[in-house]
Parts: sequence; C-alpha cells; structure tokens
Amino acid sequence: MIPDKKIKTTCSYCGVGCGIVAEVDSQNKVQVEGDQNHPVNQGMLCSKGRNLHYVVNDTSDRILYPEMRWSRSHPRERVSWDQGLDRAAGVFKSLIQKYGPNSVGFYISGQCLTEEYYIANKLTKGFLGTNNIDTNSRLCMSSAVVAYKKTFGEDSVPISYEDIELADAFLIAGANPAWCHPILFRRLEKHKEKNPNVKIIVVDPRKTDSATFADIHLQIIPGTDIILYNAIGRRIIEIGLADKEFIENHTENYLKYRKQVMATSLKEASKLCGISVDDIKKVAEIIGESKGFISMWAMGLNQSAIGTDKNFSLLNLSLVTGRIGKPGNGPFSLTGQPNAMGGREVGGMASLLAVHKDLNNPVHRQEVANFWGVNEISPEPGLSATEMFEALESGEMKAVWIICTNPMVSLPNSKKIEKAMKNAKFVVVQDISHKADTVEYADLVLPAAGWLEKEGTMTNSERRISYLNKGINPPGEARPDVEILCDFARRMGFRGFNFNNTEEIYEEYCAMTKGTNIDISFLNYDRLKSEGTFQWPVPEYRHTGTARLFSDNKFYTPTQKAIFNIPAQIENTSEKTSKEYPLILTTGRVRDQWHTMTKTGKVSRLRTHYPSPVLEINPIDAYLDKVKDGDVVEVKSKNGIVRVKAKLSKSILEGVVFLPMHWGKQLQSDLNRANNLTKTVVDPQSKEPDFKFTTVSVSKYKKE
Ligand code: SF4
Repeated sequence: MIPDKKIKTTCSYCGVGCGIVAEVDSQNKVQVEGDQNHPVNQGMLCSKGRNLHYVVNDTSDRILYPEMRWSRSHPRERVSWDQGLDRAAGVFKSLIQKYGPNSVGFYISGQCLTEEYYIANKLTKGFLGTNNIDTNSRLCMSSAVVAYKKTFGEDSVPISYEDIELADAFLIAGANPAWCHPILFRRLEKHKEKNPNVKIIVVDPRKTDSATFADIHLQIIPGTDIILYNAIGRRIIEIGLADKEFIENHTENYLKYRKQVMATSLKEASKLCGISVDDIKKVAEIIGESKGFISMWAMGLNQSAIGTDKNFSLLNLSLVTGRIGKPGNGPFSLTGQPNAMGGREVGGMASLLAVHKDLNNPVHRQEVANFWGVNEISPEPGLSATEMFEALESGEMKAVWIICTNPMVSLPNSKKIEKAMKNAKFVVVQDISHKADTVEYADLVLPAAGWLEKEGTMTNSERRISYLNKGINPPGEARPDVEILCDFARRMGFRGFNFNNTEEIYEEYCAMTKGTNIDISFLNYDRLKSEGTFQWPVPEYRHTGTARLFSDNKFYTPTQKAIFNIPAQIENTSEKTSKEYPLILTTGRVRDQWHTMTKTGKVSRLRTHYPSPVLEINPIDAYLDKVKDGDVVEVKSKNGIVRVKAKLSKSILEGVVFLPMHWGKQLQSDLNRANNLTKTVVDPQSKEPDFKFTTVSVSKYKKE
C-alpha cells in the first residue's frame, strides 16, 4: 500500500492509550502501526490495536443513514436527518412538558471523546434540566472514582506509567493486565526482565496469564479482598514498616484504620480469604521494605457490592506505607475504556459535575450554571446506569438516548434490560454498527462516525490527553457525535450549541478548567497537534504536563491531608451460595475481544484465540456436577440461563466458575450472554454493579 497520508492518533480500545500511526491510501484504505515516538507504547501494539484497520476498512456492518419507526407496530425505515432529529426533539419536548425533565435521560460511553462527553453533559444537566446522564464507565470504575474522591479530595489518579520503571513492588488486584492492558503489562515484563529483584504479586481467584508471570499469586476467595488488604496492613504496622512521619503529618483517621486492621488476627484473616499466613506476611514485607510500591487494579475490585470499600482497603496500603507522591510509588486504577478518564473530567456521570466540581454542592452547581448561562443545575441526583433502566422498566422514565454502548449485552440482568427497552416510550440509539443487540429495540437509529472519522481528544489511565485526528470520511450519512448532539440541542431551542467545529467545544471546556486542579486552560489543539500528548494539569503556557500528583504531600481535601477511609464492614454483602446455587460466577474479558465485540468480532484473526464463550470450571466442581471437558452445560442463576461448553481448568479456584462477558445475540445466541445470569445489585456508594459475584448452578445440558 502506498500511503497517501500518515495520521497520528490513539488506539480506540483500552485505557492504556497507545499511540498509533494510521496510513491512509488514495482509496481511503487504512493500515496501522504503533507510534515509535509515543511515550505510552514506544511503537508496541497489542493484538487488538494491531488489527484496528480491519475494523475501519470493513464497513459492511455500519449504520449508514438514520432509521426510524413511526410506531411500534411498524418496522424502521430510512428517514432523513431532519425527520429523525425533528421527531426526537418533538418527543423529548412533549415528554418533558408532560412528565418533567427526569422522564428523559442519556446513557453514553467511555468510548465517547471528551468533547462528546462535554456536550452531552451540558445538554442534559444544563439545558434539559435533569442529571439523568450516565455512562458505561459506571460499570467499570465508579468505585475507584468514589474512593479517590474520599481519600484524596478529588478523583485524581496520582501516578504515571513512567513510575512502573521506578518501582520494585507491584500488587495487581483483581486485574489481568496481561490480557486487558497488554502494552502496560509489556512494560512491566520488560522492567522485571531487567531488574530481577522486582516483585509482582497478583490477587485473583483465577490463575490468569498475569498471575502466572507473578512472583506470588494469591488465589483469593471471591469477595474477601478487604480482609486480605487489612491483614497486609496489620502486618506492616506490626513489623514497624508503617511510615509514622507521613501518617502523622499528612493523613487523617489513622487510629480508626489501625483499630479495624488489628481487630482481625492474621490466622482469622487467612481462614476467611484462603491465603496462608506465610503469604500474607511475605507480601507485607515485600511492600513495606520496597523502595517503590505500586498497586494496580481494575474490575475485580471495582465490580462488587462493596467495591468502594475494597478500594479504600487497597488505597490505605499506600497511605500506611507513605508510598505516594514519590517517584515509583502510588495507587493506580486501570481504566478499561479509552476515554473513561476524559468522561470523569467533564462530569460524565449522573453523580458528577464538570471539572471535578461536586453535584451536591450548591455553590459548585451555580458556578457551572453561570458558566453555561443557565439559571440552575438541578439539585436532584441523576439516575445511574442500572437505575436508569429500572426507571424505564417501571415507566418512571420514558425516553433514553443511548450513545456508543450496547446495554443489551453489557448491563447486568439482561431480561430486565430487555423489558426496560420494550417498555420505554422512545429509544434513540446513536452508534456505528448494526451488530449491537441494542439497535433492535430502537425507535430511532442515528449513524455515528467512528474512530479516525472525526477529531477530538481523549485521556488515558495516567491522565494523558491526546488529540485524535480525522483521517477519513465516515461512510454513508454518518456524522460525528458532537454534530448530532448540537443539532438536536438547537432543534430543542437551546442556546450555546452553535459551535463551528470540535475545537471550539474543546476550548469552551478548557476555559472551564481554569484555576481548578485539572487546569488545561493553556493546552490548545495547536499544542496537542504539534507537541503531542500532555498529562493534566497543564496550568501554564509553557507547562509540559504533570506526571505525578501530590509530590508536596498536599492533597485536595479541606485539611490537605489524605484520609484513611474505613470500610463499613469487612465481609462481602453479596448473596450467599446455597444448595440450589452452590458456585460463584465471575465474569470478565478475554485477550483478543473488546466489550460486546461490535468491533473486534469483525476481525477473523481475533476470533481464533477464544472462538466462542466457554465456562471455565475447576475439575473438582465438574466431577461433582458430572460434567466433562467440552460438554454443553446449563448455567443457572435466579435471573436466567446460559448454555455454553465447559472447559475444565485447574487454574480456577474450586467453587468459582468464569464466563466471558463479550458475546450477545447478534454474534452468536442470547443463550451465550453472561449477563443473563447477573443481578442488579450495586455498591451503594458507587452504584457499580456486582458482576464478580453471582451464585449459580452448573449441570450437563440434556436435550428435551
Ligand atoms: Fe490499544 Fe490497549 Fe492494546 Fe494499547 S494495549 S494497543 S491501547 S488495546
């Protein structure tokens, strides 16, 4: 291929945020390679990133023009943009007039660009008059958001990837970065290859590829994480490795923390979490004696009925050892989506306001309202992801606008989601692919531009903002999401949506950050295009970005001290196993697939690694259930059934089974959908669903 142009951009999959050079030929065909000069990946790409061009080049599944059904008894038909958006504006106006602003809402995505997130939030919270805007990021990292806020005063990830090469102790908790954040893990592997003294500890009920690489694998009983991290904290204190100076001068609430961790002996903790006392002691010594300690975590910790408390117990290990604000030290939550972090910056959840302002604070609400030129932001909390679909099911909410996400496959308790979609008076789906199961339920389908077909910015897991260039035109009549939203807002009669381009939206958001802890008011598109990526804050013109927060030991709390938050209780609050449902189901991801496979599912070479969903089950449980390797099994929970093949594996803890979450009806069968089984239980603090603990039974499937 002779490239016509080369475009620097960022991978659209995980939150690692690898730099990509896309080559576009005269036929608009794309090839990709890793950007050698990018600080994140230095030319490396994982299997998903390396194959991204197949997704762009194959437009066979793309939604090409707006489609609408005039009533539920008619099929959808092609309509013009004017017809579609006029109808949407008409329906939203009449519902708001009749039932109030909380009768409508938006459900968006961590794959949206920052400008899209910003506009959707401005439209909903500023102009529609409701805080009913939530995102699929609620499903992956909202527990970490709440924990950061309560510990440091703001939702601020303190460290950077460059800290990996400076640390010598890593605690990877409930994450499998070898598969889900591969380039980050590659950096960790290289670091260990060069420095054999580096110690890696992985906490996971499954022996994943990350756990296999680790020095110590703590194969924990699901739900007992707080007990384990408290026991490690206790041992650190007992052997005199707590940082007394840091605790005294820079933290609050230590005595309460000490009291809680001392209340459970190591022997008791060992019994409860299934980790030997020796291993607890060994890990405490590694952390306490290290020069640089980094904790990394993802869904295994966050997706729990006690997800925020689990986060607290892990963050407390950084506080008790004083391992924060120094090179090679700090807690590091890994974001699953490319712009989950950018969404948090612009207040992209029902519980947040832009630029880390607090929705519960009337002064903050007024500041945002003044900035947008509206009278007020509603003080009423918005509905979170699961609450929104419950409100649609009950009829309390009437209309939902879904952007770039596939709740029919990804939200828990699929049967309830289906009822909600059917019961809603009006469903808009704005997406790129017909392969998303959710499209089936839409009254109005709007074709959106995809990766490389629009410009904008994203922020990766380490607060690094990158500019994404447009390289090709979207197919058919597809339009960038910001254009669609601004067009709709103008049809609603709202001021403040007359932007000439995406850059003007970015500039409006940047102006809003001035003087805040995420100040990027001096970071314009020109700098991003010419100088590359920057980590926020970038508070001065010549500032080159901030790799590490809290270097001065000053936190964003009123006292400037970090807070030891004490988990309300140390034991899991999920349902208990029973005779009927004796096994614990945990769901998760596989190496070469992404979310609900609307993109990766198109690439044949990505399907070879894990061609179809299988239930991983320990041979002892399989023996008890009379199941052999390769048998088709029925997995049952209180909520539904899944029928898949069984894969016997000693790498999963006895009593636990695993199912990947990617597959849905469009790609295989709705009997393969893991979320048929999961329940709508959430962490009360973060509203993040309890995906990692569903009680199930497994039996060999017998045809009737
Ligand atoms: Fe893309 Fe993540 Fe792979 Fe990097 S590690 S290439 S960002 S999927």
